[in-house]
Amino acid sequence: MSLLQRRPPAPSPEVLVIIGAHRDELAFGERVVAELDPKRFAALRILQGLRGDPPTPDQRASFRDRHHALYLQFLDHVAPHHRLLIDLHSGRDETGQCGDVLCAKHRLLDCVAARAVGLDGRVRCVSLVADTSAIEPPEPPYLIARPEIPEAVWNPSGLTYVGIEAYLRADGSGHRSEWQFAATLVELVADCAASMGARATGR
Ligand SMILES: [Zn+2]
Repeated sequence: MSLLQRRPPAPSPEVLVIIGAHRDELAFGERVVAELDPKRFAALRILQGLRGDPPTPDQRASFRDRHHALYLQFLDHVAPHHRLLIDLHSGRDETGQCGDVLCAKHRLLDCVAARAVGLDGRVRCVSLVADTSAIEPPEPPYLIARPEIPEAVWNPSGLTYVGIEAYLRADGSGHRSEWQFAATLVELVADCAASMGARATGR
């Protein structure tokens, strides 16, 4: 037996975490990514992200156009080994630690809702749909939202898109407990996506 065994190449992370799509949230995203295992999570940093403030009614069209243009570029960074795209954002909520998980796949939301019970913070699941007016009874068990980004991104074939909005108590990049909570939520989403993938392939 050879003493010089060649090590197999390190597996590439299957999860791509996008940070800084909204420029004011990049510093928060960096702190969250620093809490994650780089073997499992790769980061896509948007160094010149958009302003994330909610648009006034007359800014709505240009807000959408700018989001479409930026988000379409993300697809260029998706490699065949990526199974999950996590689009990480931050928002403000003075009541404390909480987060939204947004996805078009109900099975993933079901898993997140079930496992989030044990987390140290509230988690709200949001179902992404193309047309909120087309929802017929029975209504989905989750809140619904129509994304301001291209459907090719939020409902891609061959991989899963999940938006996470982690809420911070104050403006800025947050505090350690908030970074850790967001990182835990990212890991939980990745665990749920992995368990779905394992079932889909019969593993
Ligand atoms: Zn944002």
